[in-house]
Amino acid sequence: ATPVSIMVGTGKGASMGVLIKNAEALEILEKVDTLVVDKTGTLTEGAPKLVTVEVLEGIDEETLLRAVATLERSSEHPLAEAIVEGTEARGLKLGKTDNFNSVTGEGVTGEVDGLKVAIGNDKLFESLGIDAEKLPALSEQYREEGQTVMLIALDNKATGIIGVMDPIKESTAEAIEALHEEGIEIVMLTGDNETTAKAVAARLHIDRVQAEVSPEDKSKVVQALQKEGRHVAMAGDGVNDAPALAQAHVGIAMGTGTDVAMESAGVTLVKGDLTGIVRAIRLSRSTMKNIR
Ligand code: ADP
Ligand code: MG
Repeated sequence: ATPVSIMVGTGKGASMGVLIKNAEALEILEKVDTLVVDKTGTLTEGAPKLVTVEVLEGIDEETLLRAVATLERSSEHPLAEAIVEGTEARGLKLGKTDNFNSVTGEGVTGEVDGLKVAIGNDKLFESLGIDAEKLPALSEQYREEGQTVMLIALDNKATGIIGVMDPIKESTAEAIEALHEEGIEIVMLTGDNETTAKAVAARLHIDRVQAEVSPEDKSKVVQALQKEGRHVAMAGDGVNDAPALAQAHVGIAMGTGTDVAMESAGVTLVKGDLTGIVRAIRLSRSTMKNIR
């Protein structure tokens, strides 16, 4: 490869909002046949909104919301932020939490006004030895709509669910269609529940889905695809995504995401939408064709 063409290529990329770190990244992009994408913040806006509250008998909705939002105020997860914001928007005042504990990829626990509160997924309930009772069945219809549903236990008893919705970015569907036209297969990874993941994937015509992936396992999924002989690009925005971005043949970070993700990636999309990937791949293909 002649360095001049590569420099012209990376210059063109920059003018389109696609920051390419080095010649290697531009060269590898040409060969990419598989794009692995993180759901939250990459396909979606990454700004979920509280939309569903359902309680079983014995407690009112506001008491449950207030307890859960008080607990979530100690968490930095985007899901926690959605719950706190949605609860405060209903005019409810939050209290104080004791013995807060956060379990990565599962949820959070603590005590609010002497009441034990737990919110998270079925893995959290399993870890705590709590029977989810009717909650999974209650959650299913909301998950089929693409909502992320969290299970809630009060004093170790299944009590209700909260659902949040993270809208799909406006540019995502079009970008996926264009990537398909370039012959690229799309694999979606998420820590979210299988039903929710499949609902989002179906809407976007995504080829493969892997749900309930722990943050540590994202890079293992990339590695497994590489072992199949694929040329893998990975797109993500979170601190959790950094190891997978580094593992991929080329990592693509959202400019709207975390610094750690951008440091681990060969390519950064300034605007943080997937149409940038289509431009980057087309640019790489035309640059490399010019060189040969
Ligand atoms: P992702 O970033 O893909 O959403 P995570 O690994 O951060 O995945 O979380 C996986 C799941 O764990 C979430 O979908 C949710 O069910 C649960 N979870 C994680 N953090 C929290 C939290 N602070 N409150 C409630 N549930 C949580
Ligand atoms: Mg994430």
